[in-house]
Amino acid sequence: MSDAKPHSAPEAAKPSNFLRTIIERDVAAGTYDQRPYGGTPGDAAHHAAGPTDPARVRLRFPPEPNGYLHVGHAKSICLNFGLARDFGGVCHLRFDDTNPEKEDQEYVDAIEEMVKWLGWDWNAFGTSHLYFASDYFDFMYRAAEHLIERGLAYVDEQSADEMRANRGDFNTPGKDSPYRARTPSENLARFREMRDGVHADGSMVLRAKIDMASPNINLRDPAIYRIRRATHHNTGDKWCIYPMYTYAHPIEDALERITHSICTLEFEDQRPFYDWLLERLAEGGLLSHPLPKQYEFGRLNLSYVITSKRKLKQLVDEGHVSGWDDPRMPTLAGMRRRGYTPSAIRKMADDSGASKTNIWLDYSVLDIAQRDDLDPQVPRAMAVIDPLPLKLTNWKDVFGSADHREPCQAPVHPHHPERGVRQFSLGPTLWIERDDFAEVPAKGFFRLFPGNKVRLKYGVVVECTGCEKDASGQITAVTATVVPDTKSGTPGADAIKVKGVITWVAAHEAVATELRLFDRLFTEPQPDAGGRDYLSVLNPNSKRVVQGYIEPSLADVPAETRVQFERHGYFITDRMDHRANQPVINRITGLKDGWSK
Ligand code: ATP
Ligand code: MG
Repeated sequence: MSDAKPHSAPEAAKPSNFLRTIIERDVAAGTYDQRPYGGTPGDAAHHAAGPTDPARVRLRFPPEPNGYLHVGHAKSICLNFGLARDFGGVCHLRFDDTNPEKEDQEYVDAIEEMVKWLGWDWNAFGTSHLYFASDYFDFMYRAAEHLIERGLAYVDEQSADEMRANRGDFNTPGKDSPYRARTPSENLARFREMRDGVHADGSMVLRAKIDMASPNINLRDPAIYRIRRATHHNTGDKWCIYPMYTYAHPIEDALERITHSICTLEFEDQRPFYDWLLERLAEGGLLSHPLPKQYEFGRLNLSYVITSKRKLKQLVDEGHVSGWDDPRMPTLAGMRRRGYTPSAIRKMADDSGASKTNIWLDYSVLDIAQRDDLDPQVPRAMAVIDPLPLKLTNWKDVFGSADHREPCQAPVHPHHPERGVRQFSLGPTLWIERDDFAEVPAKGFFRLFPGNKVRLKYGVVVECTGCEKDASGQITAVTATVVPDTKSGTPGADAIKVKGVITWVAAHEAVATELRLFDRLFTEPQPDAGGRDYLSVLNPNSKRVVQGYIEPSLADVPAETRVQFERHGYFITDRMDHRANQPVINRITGLKDGWSK
């Protein structure tokens, strides 16, 4: 997929959804077959001069570069790029950067990186389809003058309050602005003054002239240009007027020859204006048919997660997390650092389909997809997360020397013998999990307690003899004796039956490791529901950092290496802080679902 070669046929066995059905229908009807395409975005004349578009459909993912992408965006990315791939089309990555104040190059770079990381590519048919809406400012301006000349737009000097009051509401029609009857030439002169910086920010706006009594409030002469003196990350100080989103977005789609413009439900009421604007510009010859069509689908929400860039930015700015890529963040950067795989995220996105209602997905769905993806792939290893020493007091008697090291091995992956074995060894002192020992065992506890025998996984059977304590009564070590001739893989291994098997790492070769154990960032499944202050439901225990030990096979693995620690779950070496021989490892998720408990 990462080469994003346009496929000529839909992938078989993809569950259908209403968007897929619409595109299937359009492709079958040949709706977009004879479109000329100028090879780059442009107006009607530009496209008319081009050959027939080799892409059967064009879609786009249009993020605003005002923050990092989150898991909700992943849904939209996979939907748009996936449909384009399946129908022999192209998906553009377009930065919707028409709002100068909040946008930044940092975000542009991070968004590109994450779309690629997810496995998608905007290069197709020999062209990079990476676009910036701000590159269309000249056309947008020209289109605005065109509307003015045709009496379809006017400059309004009412105050924002007056405009709001005169817009009316659901039950009351709006009132015409006193400026609504201005002539095209008056409007043109005023609009040019706006452009030339003659007027103050906010003193006037350009509005489309449609219908102040429309039942759809979005058609009551929506504002299409405003004055705002702000330096833009792409166009610098060239402009002091900027188009409104509702005006800019349809034009961006049309210039890029988008066929299906897929957006989330909140834009449904904007669709009549989308169509109105493009039809008017097509009548004027600035754009040409077939025009793009907007379709809306429900947002994806994940339990215990916030998906709003603004709110995520607050978590970062106020230091509630370590940054946009904090492994607890639902940003793609955070999920990557946490260890989630692109394929698991794509699977979750695919499985959640597309519907006409917003959906809430239980976080466990993502975790299950993650475990299903990792289990067949990642190597196994042993780690001790909450270490307690285990002293084997008869080591010298059994093996002849305190310095003896007993070699052990284990498969890299239990289902893939061809991947070989990991080598490690037993010695007289081991690290074991603190909770694998109980002085007084609870009912059903089969691990270490005085008098009980357990198997050290891949090693020998030991019999617990007791423990050592410090002055405060805290247990400082467990003691046990080796039961001779019980090593795994030898003929005597099964001579003694034990109920418990524990994991361990030998002290002489264990690698001390920083382990970062994450839990959900919020304690409530819908942290920001009903306008709740989501900061009030931050989970104080969402991150725990402990010092543990890992087996030597992992001593010098690179950053972003994933592994399953037996009995503990899936882990990844941290992409920022991990160093060879100074491992820093994040827990991705446990072996079982710990979210819906
Ligand atoms: P935010 O409110 O977090 O800023 P946004 O929708 O304003 O989100 P954009 O950068 O404008 O962010 O979004 C780019 C695209 O991603 C849009 O087409 C938007 O509809 C889509 N999108 C954003 N959030 C979700 C979501 N939770 N589920 C599905 N699609 C989403
Ligand atoms: Mg937005």
